[in-house]
Amino acid sequence: MGHPSNTPQKNCTKALERCIDRLKGMTNKNNDLYDVIIAGAGPSGSSSGYFLSTKGLRVLILDKYKFPREKYCGGGVPRSVFEMFPIENRMSEFIEINEYRFTCRGKKNAGGKIPDGGVISVERSVFDDYLLSCALNEGAVFIGGVEVVDVEPDSNQVTVIDSHGNRYMGKVLVGASGGISRLNEKLNRIIGNNNKAKMGICGYYKFLSEPETQDLYQDTVHLDFNFINGGVAGILPKKDYIWVGAYKSQMEKMKNIRKSVDKFIDTIGLKGEKAEFVGLPIPLYNHRREIARGRVLLVGEAAGLVNPISGEGIKPAVESGKIAAEEIEAFLRDGKSLEEYGARIHSEIGEELRIAGRFAKIAFTFPSIAYDGMIHVANDAVKILNGELSYGDFERRLKKKILRKVGIK
Ligand SMILES: Cc1cc2nc3c(=O)[nH]c(=O)nc-3n(C[C@H](O)[C@H](O)[C@H](O)COP(=O)(O)OP(=O)(O)OC[C@H]3O[C@@H](n4cnc5c(N)ncnc54)[C@H](O)[C@@H]3O)c2cc1C
Repeated sequence: MGHPSNTPQKNCTKALERCIDRLKGMTNKNNDLYDVIIAGAGPSGSSSGYFLSTKGLRVLILDKYKFPREKYCGGGVPRSVFEMFPIENRMSEFIEINEYRFTCRGKKNAGGKIPDGGVISVERSVFDDYLLSCALNEGAVFIGGVEVVDVEPDSNQVTVIDSHGNRYMGKVLVGASGGISRLNEKLNRIIGNNNKAKMGICGYYKFLSEPETQDLYQDTVHLDFNFINGGVAGILPKKDYIWVGAYKSQMEKMKNIRKSVDKFIDTIGLKGEKAEFVGLPIPLYNHRREIARGRVLLVGEAAGLVNPISGEGIKPAVESGKIAAEEIEAFLRDGKSLEEYGARIHSEIGEELRIAGRFAKIAFTFPSIAYDGMIHVANDAVKILNGELSYGDFERRLKKKILRKVGIK
């Protein structure tokens, strides 16, 4: 006589196997207690990993993707970012931007040179992989294809759990999972942050342009100040295509961003083939946000460190990684509170982003004034991008100039 049905027994065995796998995974695979676990290997996570490892700390970096991986981005990076890493031998993989072109609703036309290749155009898959390799060369451990789904901090350590049930233990957790991630929502609850970020949005085409256009833009960035309400449209050259997109400092439907980019392409007469339109909302800086508590802190976009005037987040991501490493070292070696990290981020990065936010309000309310103004301050803008001039000093300089113009000394 046969068994009435094999199925329940099979299911039972499978369930048991799953259970055993899960129990196996419940233990910390190598019983290691890392000094620091970093969730996310974008620019903020990898730079945290790099600076922490150079200090001799034991670092584990987890990312839900195996690397190299794509990331929706413009890939415009100030040169000063590269100076923070041993990257010179890789520069040939990126494009130095030497010229700018400004338009106003596709009309008017101003251009000029950017001194010292102040801006670099990167492919994020290559750039992020390179930053990660900097951390690994200094001794950090990386596991890709691992999604962090839960975090259990207590007074001695933080336990990090991935989607397979594996547990990893660290003395500190760095949340570097970007602005739009379920993990970041969880970490915000742990930190007790009730202040939501204001959102901007950016969308773009990879545009396979005809050879003349590709030549025209080979090392030129193009910004248009009046194509999209509350933002900028722009072009950035890449190796095999040009990036054509728009950023808006308020939330907007992606289809409307796309319509604006389509119109921008038609108005300036770009010829070529559009690939898929992609993009993402971007959390913008909010100085009221809590970004550290106990043994957990947030870096980069997870901490809302994005410039409201440009949607730029790579430089603040990397800078926050450096500050995080310094504060974590002080916490682990001298017992200094990690909450100091939040205060430093708000004063060393946040204050600049706040002033940038003030400029954004003026620039996006009066775009033709922004266009006329940018022609005169293009070189200062590149200096600001690279941290050689602060938004604060620039604002003071501008006020003096205006007062002098109206006859008040
Ligand atoms: C369309 C667009 C264009 C942009 N253009 C520019 C630009 O030209 N210049 C600029 O400076 N900035 C730009 N930005 C902003 C910039 O991309 C981000 O600010 C920057 O990537 C932030 O770096 P990050 O390391 O904090 O986060 P991310 O780069 O988002 O990295 C987060 C990492 O965490 C991983 N992750 C997420 N969840 C988990 C999880 N649960 N477990 C494990 N890993 C996880 C992700 O896979 C990812 O690798 C743009 C943004 C967008 C959307």
